Amino acid sequence: MELLKTKIKEDGKLIGSNILKVDSFLNHQIDPELMAEIGKEFARRFEQEDITKVLTIEASGIAVALMVGLELGVPVLFAKKKKASTMDGKVYTGKVKSFTKNQVYDISVSSKYLNEGDNVLIIDDFLAMGQASQGLIEIVENSQAKLAGVGIVIEKGFQPGGKQLRKQGIRVESLAIIESLEDNQIIFS
Ligand code: 5GP
Repeated sequence: MELLKTKIKEDGKLIGSNILKVDSFLNHQIDPELMAEIGKEFARRFEQEDITKVLTIEASGIAVALMVGLELGVPVLFAKKKKASTMDGKVYTGKVKSFTKNQVYDISVSSKYLNEGDNVLIIDDFLAMGQASQGLIEIVENSQAKLAGVGIVIEKGFQPGGKQLRKQGIRVESLAIIESLEDNQIIFS
């Protein structure tokens, strides 16, 4: 998606050769017009799939997922990183390993909002090691729902998450794939 790539080039900041900071439009301050275009693009790519629900993980996935849900006309569900006291009854959980914090944590959604009749589109802001996506896939599997695919705003193609998901036979649609962040340069695939 050219608009997104231009934005990344203009506003993205590099932290070493591994981390891209996009706090000015995606991860802290959010650009609503860009989110609307991103929502349209994902909706276009998955419009044939009869999606019934968009699933993401708090917090940065929510803004993107909301625009996709709006375009597809379906509800948006986000997995919580901490089980809230208001979350009663049965939950579906998935495990996410955080490489930065070197710990494994559970993410969960209430079973009220996901079931075997659903056809789920997973949406997230970044794909790196793939752990967040794998945790969300675990939730979909536990709920017996069908997985239509995974939509990612920025995939870091030099990290193994995307390759692994595709090897599992999962459709992964990334709007920008970064091949390298070396030498203080952002190179797209
Ligand atoms: P994973 O390794 O599970 O695919 O990515 C986990 C999460 O880490 C992503 O959802 C995203 O929030 C964050 N993340 C991973 N790499 C980057 C990065 O280069 N920049 C930013 N801003 N977040 C990242």
